[in-house]
Amino acid sequence: MSRQTDAPLTQLNSFKLPSVARELWLATKRSQLQAAINASHHRHPVILAGGSNILLPEHPLELVWQLRDDLLPIEPDSQGRVSVWAGTSLSRLINSTIAHGWPGGENFVLIPGSVGAAVYNNIHGYSNDFIGRYVTGVDAWDFQDRTWVHLDHDQLQFGYDTSLFHSGRYLIAQVDLQFKNQVPSGLLRARYGNYARQKRVSQPYGVPSAGCFWANPTNSAQLCARFPQFASKKQFPAGFLIEQLSPAHPEWFTGPAQVSRRHHSFITNPDGQATGRDVLALSAAIASSVRDEFGVALQPEVVIIK
Ligand SMILES: Cc1cc2nc3c(=O)[nH]c(=O)nc-3n(C[C@H](O)[C@H](O)[C@H](O)COP(=O)(O)OP(=O)(O)OC[C@H]3O[C@@H](n4cnc5c(N)ncnc54)[C@H](O)[C@@H]3O)c2cc1C
Repeated sequence: MSRQTDAPLTQLNSFKLPSVARELWLATKRSQLQAAINASHHRHPVILAGGSNILLPEHPLELVWQLRDDLLPIEPDSQGRVSVWAGTSLSRLINSTIAHGWPGGENFVLIPGSVGAAVYNNIHGYSNDFIGRYVTGVDAWDFQDRTWVHLDHDQLQFGYDTSLFHSGRYLIAQVDLQFKNQVPSGLLRARYGNYARQKRVSQPYGVPSAGCFWANPTNSAQLCARFPQFASKKQFPAGFLIEQLSPAHPEWFTGPAQVSRRHHSFITNPDGQATGRDVLALSAAIASSVRDEFGVALQPEVVIIK
């Protein structure tokens, strides 16, 4: 466990936005979290893991807890069950489930970050899959009752880009998952490779961002009438709407924060010069244009820390 003061956070978020933590605690196991809890004197921390779905402010954050990978081996049992520390890197979990022939993880290929945050946002991947489908339960710290709890799948309120954890009441420490219908791992490796190639072509990999900035809005009769090619989709691609407006907004592609031409739902920080304020200003301009043209209120998928 380590505690740092006035710690820079620029390298701890994938947007590479400048920010500072007055107090930063790093934890790779539950006992270290407990130490941070004991020392917090009831202050509510900002919880950070891989920092790949978060927009940090320029002003200093008082208290930040970062969950980091414990780097322990990950071994599903013979029934496809596996339990991991929340700070575990999602890619390590996926490598392990694929190596053991348990299907599912390959749908979340190239999604950065931790298993705990994947549960927090119920991440979505290929085959219209959501991580929540594999989660049987979590151990969490309850900030309200100040106690450790175990929550079962049915209590986790998984939805599109959301879960119970958006309430801010809990800190996920351990995640139990169940994979089913074992197959030869070569099949999963081939699928993984195929999805990885598609993603590298369609998204701006290597450019600082927090992934898709926007949640895809719920599809509507109005949108279907205008764009019938998406009629079968429950969620309408936000990037498509933004792309339609981009010829009229060359300024979206020139500032310190920019819309990606490769995937219009991504906001990027290509030169590492943007601040949280730049990203918010650009996102407000995009949201207002989309609302005016399509009557759609875009909601950020990225968590905005105030
Ligand atoms: C290039 C790129 C591609 C991406 N592709 C996808 C994609 O295809 N699908 C998708 O769904 N997402 C995608 N994302 C978004 C992101 O990777 C995921 O949301 C990921 O799960 C975030 O993990 P993290 O550990 O980095 O979370 P962080 O950014 O550190 O945290 C995200 C949120 O989770 C909360 N949190 C983190 N850990 C815990 C915990 N243990 N307990 C309670 N709350 C916690 C934080 O407080 C914060 O609110 C992409 C991002 C990038 C940069």
